Amino acid sequence: MNSQNFQLAKSFVHESYVKQAEQSRKGREKLIRKLLSNRKLSKDGWDEVTIRLFLQEIASMDSNNFIGNVGAGEREARIFSNIVRERNYGLGHGIGRSGDIGAIQPKAAGSSLLAKLTDSLVLDAMRIAGLKSIKSALVVPVATGMAMTLVFLALRTLKPRATKIILSRIDQKSCIKSIQAAGYEPVIVDNQVVEDEARTDVQSILNSLESDRILCVVSTTSCFAPRAPDDVVAIASLCQSFGYVFHIVNNAYGIQSRQSNNWIELASRKGRVDMIVQSTDKNFMVPVGGAIVASSKVDYVKNVAQIYPGRASAQIHIDLLITLVQMGQSTWQELLKEREELFPVLKEELSKIARRYGERLLDTPHNPISMAMTLDHLESKGFSVEFFGSMLFTRFVSGTRVVSRNNNNKKVCGIEFPNGFGAHCTNYPHSYLTAACALGMTRKDIEIFCTRLEECFQEAYEKLALQKKEEYL
Ligand SMILES: *Cc1c(COP(=O)(O)O)cnc(C)c1O
Repeated sequence: MNSQNFQLAKSFVHESYVKQAEQSRKGREKLIRKLLSNRKLSKDGWDEVTIRLFLQEIASMDSNNFIGNVGAGEREARIFSNIVRERNYGLGHGIGRSGDIGAIQPKAAGSSLLAKLTDSLVLDAMRIAGLKSIKSALVVPVATGMAMTLVFLALRTLKPRATKIILSRIDQKSCIKSIQAAGYEPVIVDNQVVEDEARTDVQSILNSLESDRILCVVSTTSCFAPRAPDDVVAIASLCQSFGYVFHIVNNAYGIQSRQSNNWIELASRKGRVDMIVQSTDKNFMVPVGGAIVASSKVDYVKNVAQIYPGRASAQIHIDLLITLVQMGQSTWQELLKEREELFPVLKEELSKIARRYGERLLDTPHNPISMAMTLDHLESKGFSVEFFGSMLFTRFVSGTRVVSRNNNNKKVCGIEFPNGFGAHCTNYPHSYLTAACALGMTRKDIEIFCTRLEECFQEAYEKLALQKKEEYL
């Protein structure tokens, strides 16, 4: 409705009512105008009616939704099912063109706007979270591992003779596979155990750098305890002083941690950080499927957009755009703050339980999201810690991870890990259980998790007592 139409409406409905409706409509238009001109999160989140209105407007800008449009090509955003059309808000053209995922599509002004706007809002959200030096963010419709692969492929043209990538050890298959999928050989540098923590072995990374065949060093800032986030500041300095070795940071769920963002910022000041990659679902509470490639170097991000073969789904952008405008700056900041506040709560509750059962919380002062408690005592009684993990799972606790120190030689992605895979280092001296205080976790979640964990301990020790009795009989 524009003002002319509102004027006409007054011949049907009392003038004062229409005036009020027009005011409300203008309020919504103002929100949209502000969003488009500022390219930043609005102060407060939008209501759902405004969001739907905005999406409808965007969709109506695409040719498949033009009144009287006839498609005479092979890609006309024809959608058979109404259910599918509704699910996509009528946006059927996706994003990008065959040569560049960031390119504007002539047939789809709306979808193109959606993609650019989403990138801008994500950039703003990241800066609010503390990544102030980022100048460009690209949302890619592939998850973190594949986004890492895209990044490596984009760097290939800049250093065509390189064949290897140094990975500061992280025991997550997708990290190794992302390197192999790009056609590089991973050089895995083991972590050092310092007290309870598995920490970056900066000296060994330095020793491995002595080759002009190294494309980049990959560091990881968000990881399961007892691994600490990598010493990105030291790695950034190494890469800087070594000349032409890129530094790529896997910041999978690190956006949500102020501390982790501060380290990346410091690393960019003290050395080189070329691109950082993060997951959309782990940081922004949307379904799995997307990642963000960000950098203070705009051209590098462009390279990644240009390496992407073909068009791509707009689904990730739609979900992110909706989420970010619905959150607004205030809710985004609140969520970040809540997580920071709940982290010590979960730590305290877990350490209480640990003490009650002869275990202890591992001392991992550098990890701002994940924590771990030993299961040594339980294991020493002959109880399988893997079974303990499955007991939690059957009690509908998901996301915890159990790692036993009694590990055998393991081959992962064609690489031998002599003391097993999972603890991020060789010969980690404890068996343990991890838990994370990640964005969106609530106080209630912590309470229920702790109750169920305690039940598992009780059951485990009851089982052991029963076993002993049976043996005695
Ligand atoms: C989740 C995660 C990955 C893999 O991410 P996908 O989004 O599943 O590709 C890689 N590295 C780390 C540190 C992660 O947390």
